[in-house]
Amino acid sequence: MSRSIDLAVIPGDGIGQEVVAQGLKVLNAVLPEDVKLETKEYDFGARRYHASGETLTDADLADLKAHDAILLGAIGDPSVPSGVLERGFLLKLRFAFDHHVNLRPSRLLPGVATPLAGQPEIDFVVVREGTEGPYTGNGGTIRKGTPHEVATEVSVNTAFGVERVVRDAFARAQARPRKKLTLVHKNNVLAFAGHLWTNVFNKVAEEFPEVTTDYIHVDAATIYLVTDPGRFDVIVTDNLFGDIITDLAAAVSGGIGVAASGNINPSREFPSMFEPVHGSAPDIAGQGKADPTATVLSVALLLRHLGYDDEASRVEEAVSADLGARGDSTRTTDEIGTALAVRV
Ligand code: ATP
Ligand code: MG
Repeated sequence: MSRSIDLAVIPGDGIGQEVVAQGLKVLNAVLPEDVKLETKEYDFGARRYHASGETLTDADLADLKAHDAILLGAIGDPSVPSGVLERGFLLKLRFAFDHHVNLRPSRLLPGVATPLAGQPEIDFVVVREGTEGPYTGNGGTIRKGTPHEVATEVSVNTAFGVERVVRDAFARAQARPRKKLTLVHKNNVLAFAGHLWTNVFNKVAEEFPEVTTDYIHVDAATIYLVTDPGRFDVIVTDNLFGDIITDLAAAVSGGIGVAASGNINPSREFPSMFEPVHGSAPDIAGQGKADPTATVLSVALLLRHLGYDDEASRVEEAVSADLGARGDSTRTTDEIGTALAVRV
């Protein structure tokens, strides 16, 4: 394992700035002295856009590619027209760096409020395909602006793209104690894509005999995520279904303040990017009210991705302990970050 980490840091907009500072504080605290951490900060987001009209240039991509990983706060601001930063930065980076595995763990940690009755066991990971499905911009409009306007938005599913994400999900299930993988799709109605996903899933399953497999339609999955979330260990699903069920998963397992994610390029050809699920939250930006926990848990994912398993576990344990001890106390972003840095 390399004993140095070269990290690109993109604080971004709004509370992104505040939470990333805490993520770095915890990262610095948890790394042993012999691991050299180098960081380079980038100013992507609303400021860069207003200053230069740029979102993410080819030269930026070349710079970012040289790093081991990327830590992102949040990109997005009401002053920028909707979609500009989403497509010009977030989607552009995802496709350029082939972040085809979108990883979103959901764990209900002690002391965290859930809208579900009781305190159910929730500990699962959603592996969402990140580069295909209906999110490729494949489609179009005819007779635009007329009463007969027609819009198509084609869901793209390739054997290559489905197989690599399914394989990644099986490997993740294999590495977990329960070793269970659930395919979520809608193969009874979306028959063409559903057939491909189901076939690939069953074929790859033969290589992972220890993994128990299951299939659930996406509509039923939304019910189980609320009524019986304990049945899930690892879920693999397409880009659109994954987008929707991971927000539901975040809502049942403690909300936006603790939801972490990774945009992963498993081959390591490009750096993977780790970020809290929440956005830039302009309503609370600059007030020290943002909860940095989701960013700190994203740092744990980053550490595990780079092979620092012990350090990742220490960060997760620090978060669990801190949440368990929180009570009703209202602490600032900085105070929570410092408490976590002390605990690791
Ligand atoms: P985006 O379009 O960038 O995803 P959004 O409008 O979906 O943004 P968020 O920025 O995620 O929304 O914020 C949604 C709500 O959650 C806001 O009221 C915000 O204040 C709150 N929120 C988001 N992140 C945090 C956080 N880390 N700590 C506390 N509250 C948060
Ligand atoms: Mg949002």
